[in-house]
Amino acid sequence: AKAAGRNNVSFFDPAMEARVSARAMLETDMRRALANQEFELHYQPLATIDGKLAGVEALLRWRHPQRGMVPPVEFIPVAEETNMILHLGCWVLMEACGLLSRWADDERTARLEMSVNVSPVQFHRPDFVEQVLDVLKQTGARPDRLRLELTESLLIKDVEGTIQKMQRLREVGVRFAVDDFGTGYSSLSYLHRLPLSQLKIDRSFIWDAQKEGHGAAIVRMIVGLGKTLGMSVLAEGVETPEQLAFVMDEGCHYYQGYLYSKPLPEDRLAVFFS
Ligand code: C2E
Ligand code: CA
Ligand code: CA
Ligand code: CA
Repeated sequence: AKAAGRNNVSFFDPAMEARVSARAMLETDMRRALANQEFELHYQPLATIDGKLAGVEALLRWRHPQRGMVPPVEFIPVAEETNMILHLGCWVLMEACGLLSRWADDERTARLEMSVNVSPVQFHRPDFVEQVLDVLKQTGARPDRLRLELTESLLIKDVEGTIQKMQRLREVGVRFAVDDFGTGYSSLSYLHRLPLSQLKIDRSFIWDAQKEGHGAAIVRMIVGLGKTLGMSVLAEGVETPEQLAFVMDEGCHYYQGYLYSKPLPEDRLAVFFS
């Protein structure tokens, strides 16, 4: 009786039950949304430090019929837990490369780069490389205009396997960026072994720098690291002219943030083309 009682206690946890059922509902809702084509991509312009359009980052949006726009922080973790990110991630890659391929026909857009976020769940699948190659082939997008954004935590899991996958894609021209750099645990000892072309400085350091926290020192260190390793450095989340002046002073090559542009639907990007 005592054991049963203990079991009852562990199974009847209302908070946990609420969480589980909320997750299950979200999961069901996402499957419906996929079939219903409620997901869309927005694109945030990336600028050279002197303000020219260099490319865009594709960002996933869910236009929910009742809830309106659901932010990715709400549904991407669930999509990762349920493996639905595999389907969703493949869709994102296909959409983004489709646009990249249409851009190739116009001289105003042919040089632009497309950055796509890759979930660790996607990347660590054995067929990830084939999937990317397949999307490139199907869409006809130029591999050397595609940049995949990986997080530090992704990079430290199975380093040898990760290097191999990255190298196979690098061989056809695909480039890689480390997203939110500085917030994870990458080790300097293997960073140089990875075929990376860009470090994206997490916006917390850009903001911290202004409040005279340690941000300024960290930004300086990342720029130095990028230069030593032959990578470009992009400052994320630049919202004010002061922040731009600061990251320019520190030697960042690119920036991204509301100061330059919010993420936009495809049909509103044209004002940036010249
Ligand atoms: P992230 O990759 O770090 O993307 C940048 C986030 O910062 C975006 O949020 C963007 O809207 C926001 N942002 C850009 N500039 C500024 C700024 O100046 N100020 C502030 N406060 N925010 C700015 P979003 O679109 O909500 O995406 C959140 C996260 O969701 C992304 O962070 C990324 O980790 C994930 N995500 C988005 N789309 C995808 C996707 O297609 N696949 C995967 N795996 N993850 C995605
Ligand atoms: Ca990103
Ligand atoms: Ca980021
Ligand atoms: Ca982030």
